[in-house]
Amino acid sequence: MKSSEIREKFLGFFAERGHAIVRSSPLVPGNDPTMLLTNSGMVQFKDVFLGIEKRPYTRATSVQRCVRAGGKHNDLENVGYTARHHTFFEMLGNFSFGDYFKRDAIRYAWELLTDVYRLPPEKLWITVYQEDDEAYDIWVKDIGLPEERVIRIGDNKGARYASDNFWQMADTGPCGPCSEIFYDHGPEIPGGLPGTPEEDGDRYIEIWNLVFMQYNRDEAGNLSPLPMPCVDTGMGLERLAAVLQHVHSNYDIDLFQHLIRAAARETGTTDLEDNSLKVIADHIRASAFMIVDGLIPGSDGHGYVLRRIIRRALRHGHKLGQSRPFFYKLVKDLVEEMGAAYPELKESASQVERILLHEEERFGETLENGMKILEAALPSGTKVLDGETAFTLYDTYGFPLDLTADICREREITLDEDGFDVAMERQKAAARAAGKFKMAAMLDYHGENTEFVGYTKLQEEGKII
Ligand code: ATP
Ligand code: MG
Ligand code: MG
Ligand code: MG
Repeated sequence: MKSSEIREKFLGFFAERGHAIVRSSPLVPGNDPTMLLTNSGMVQFKDVFLGIEKRPYTRATSVQRCVRAGGKHNDLENVGYTARHHTFFEMLGNFSFGDYFKRDAIRYAWELLTDVYRLPPEKLWITVYQEDDEAYDIWVKDIGLPEERVIRIGDNKGARYASDNFWQMADTGPCGPCSEIFYDHGPEIPGGLPGTPEEDGDRYIEIWNLVFMQYNRDEAGNLSPLPMPCVDTGMGLERLAAVLQHVHSNYDIDLFQHLIRAAARETGTTDLEDNSLKVIADHIRASAFMIVDGLIPGSDGHGYVLRRIIRRALRHGHKLGQSRPFFYKLVKDLVEEMGAAYPELKESASQVERILLHEEERFGETLENGMKILEAALPSGTKVLDGETAFTLYDTYGFPLDLTADICREREITLDEDGFDVAMERQKAAARAAGKFKMAAMLDYHGENTEFVGYTKLQEEGKII
């Protein structure tokens, strides 16, 4: 089943069950200044959950574009390392605003997966929140799953990948216990059941999270009940596509294979399994959609998240031997793959190309020189990269720290981040001492400030509702 068909079937299933089909909101949340980028389907409904905003429907369904490259849910460091994480992905979701709750949310999910998408029930594993007997009983008694296939899991705070069955959008805001559905990709893949120390592997892949929104967390960390219990679910389109296309990695699905082939073409790479191609394919999606939604690369805030993603992609291109702009050329392939589902991408394609090319030209000159500095600082056998060099790369060559860290990780070298902070502090103190005129000049030197073109303009033009 192709990605496009998966999207349609999902929306159709919930529309038949009385859900309003709501368009994806932009990647920059319009209703929440504390949140940099939309990380899930519920973000556009946050105020509805809180009871602040009313909508003409109590059930909704959407395919939401999401970015997880900063903030509470940050998967930038996972891209290229796991089979299931992207910076940009599409989240299929259904929502109930004080309408149905746990029982129907679970029934719908099970029916859709096993009847419509025809997943074999014996491949599915379930987790529920430790104390949530109600959800546990629905899975075991209503759906009829064997008890050993329903696993109770707690908060698991601090664990990097570990399952956490209490979902929060961010440090504050709507939250609640959740129940998750995992797919077993088979014993030949390393990894253990959720809730076990081996779960970090990619054998059992989480495909769908059903969140039972019941609380609002305030800045002091206190939970108060929402005006009405709600449902918020999220399923990664790419993960479901991997299951339905009988591949293990998200990067092997139709949509990604097209982009990987395009990245190989533009970088002259013959080995289609090269990890750098996956990173580039991931990053073109994130970069392009962020630009579609009104962002341009810059030196702080949203713009810096975008710049970091672009520069990482360019570094991977460099690793593949590419010294001329190539990244912007992937936009047309992306449009071929996703333009039908996202007309706004098609409409802004030439602007996206222009902005990417500009950033490539800007960074290209210094990437080459920066890499030389780095290679000189890392003769073979080096165990630690000193903070001073990392700072020079950042300050003079525009290498965001996470880019340098990524290179170190590939080579199993420790990066002295404390040393980096010391160098950064020294620089700031010097700037303060030099006074504000010099400071202004420095800011200028670091490049343009983030500009947010804004989606109000796009809205005015009728491009987004
Ligand atoms: P994981 O534990 O695998 O990191 P998660 O628990 O962080 O996933 P949720 O916040 O529960 O994910 O998001 C709901 C769904 O969105 C997930 O079940 C998954 O299908 C999908 N998803 C989450 N993060 C990503 C990502 N970085 N790339 C692709 N799909 C994702
Ligand atoms: Mg995660
Ligand atoms: Mg998880
Ligand atoms: Mg989850």
